[in-house]
Amino acid sequence: MSSIMPTMFRESRPRARKVYYCDECGALIPIGLRYWTAFGVWDGEPSTWRTHAHCAAFRSRYNDHLTSVKGYSAEECAPFGFVNYCVQEGSEDAEWAKRWARLKAWTHKRYGGALS
Ligand SMILES: [Zn+2]
Repeated sequence: MSSIMPTMFRESRPRARKVYYCDECGALIPIGLRYWTAFGVWDGEPSTWRTHAHCAAFRSRYNDHLTSVKGYSAEECAPFGFVNYCVQEGSEDAEWAKRWARLKAWTHKRYGGALS
């Protein structure tokens, strides 16, 4: 995903008809759970992202924090699938890293899946 603006983008909140892995926390998205998904085309490459609703909400709050508190631009925010990486790399954001670690641990305990 090299350019920030996709040529096509749509998001939705369907119920899982099969088991998926969350692109943010890596835990399972079980059948029947309502999850967040986005389909987009970046640089001619179609991509689909699937995450737990609460993982999408965390990403959104974290990115709000980066832009409003830290003055980051949209390009510097965590892209889809990169919360786990960004929150751990942002060493000055210890509180956010702790929150993410708790949310990730809770999600893995509840839904299962290998910890990343
Ligand atoms: Zn998740």
